[in-house]
Amino acid sequence: MEELIRDWDGESVVIRYDATARAWMFVAVHDRTLGMALGGCRFKKYTEPREALRDALRLAQGMTYKWAAVELPFGGGKSVIAPTHPLDAAQRDALLLRFGELLHSLGGLYGTGIDLGTTPADMNVIGRRAEWVFGRTRDQGGSGDPGPWTAEGVHAGLRAACEHVFGAASPARLAVLVQGVGGVGAPLARRLAADGARVMISDALPARTTALAAEIGADIVKPEAVYNTPCDVFAPCAIGGILNQRSIAKLQCRVVAGSANNQLEHDSDADLLHARGILYVPDFVINAGGAIAHASLEVLRWTEREATARVRRIRDTVADILEKAASAAESPLHEAIRRSERVLANARAAKRREPADERAIAP
Ligand code: NAD
Repeated sequence: MEELIRDWDGESVVIRYDATARAWMFVAVHDRTLGMALGGCRFKKYTEPREALRDALRLAQGMTYKWAAVELPFGGGKSVIAPTHPLDAAQRDALLLRFGELLHSLGGLYGTGIDLGTTPADMNVIGRRAEWVFGRTRDQGGSGDPGPWTAEGVHAGLRAACEHVFGAASPARLAVLVQGVGGVGAPLARRLAADGARVMISDALPARTTALAAEIGADIVKPEAVYNTPCDVFAPCAIGGILNQRSIAKLQCRVVAGSANNQLEHDSDADLLHARGILYVPDFVINAGGAIAHASLEVLRWTEREATARVRRIRDTVADILEKAASAAESPLHEAIRRSERVLANARAAKRREPADERAIAP
């Protein structure tokens, strides 16, 4: 863990071991140039705490780039709760309350929300002990499940990618394979089916694919066959790290555009995709819809209409990144990173000029 923290370029890491639940808690604050650190809380069992910390650090950095990519006034942060043993519902809630106490003690350094393994109901629990908690249920004043918002943004970015590669803004008649049909993948698959795409779905949980396939008329692909299955667009909406030397060699698609965080095992895998002629839409740009919605509705107090418009603007952002990357004959990942770093550099320069600059961010 020491090595991971030493090699990280972020601001701070808070680590707590909860002896009662035998669970690790990590809060990673990467960069607050644009505003307070804001990012979801992942609840997951890992093989060792080091892996949970690695996830927190990488995800927090992704949030810094994500906020910069969509130009909203927040910094990169993320938290991970990593139990080492199974917990029943009461033990889990008690652990979430103690996590809330940890957040409260940080005094606004970091605000949390939903991520893999946490729900709006969990945010209600954490929110009983802390202020900066987003994505509670609607009856508790939150904006609920971010999945449909993220799916809306992925859909917008995927359309930009289709226009870029196939010359048609609609994925109608294109074969799109969605890996993981949970909170994001299922609404995305429904939208694609409504577009007239030939949708294929895959999930580690067969019950999820059976029901959805019947509903939207999709074909089911076995999880182990996903990377070998020919398709036009591959939409990873399950887990991170799935794009690596081994899987990229097998892929038979023209576009990768999906919601999963940290899809690339290493950043250099973006170049492998580029070399194979596969267009990769950077995850931290295309999957920003949920983050945009929660932050704009709950912090910036925009209307749903304004939030929706901003989520749909992911399409313009993706189109711009793809165009510039094509001119430079490189992977879109490099242009997306440069773009976010430019936003951060400009903000740092503006801060130096006007330290008290508190301009409102327009929708
Ligand atoms: P989820 O847990 O609701 O759904 C994930 C689905 O993937 C589940 O149905 C699960 O069974 C399946 N899955 C897991 N491993 C798999 C595998 N190896 N092969 C096939 N299927 C597998 O999660 P979600 O909220 O839909 O998020 C999906 C991804 O998008 C995650 O990587 C998440 O970090 C990312 N993301 C989500 C949001 C959001 O708003 N929910 C926002 C940004 C990024």
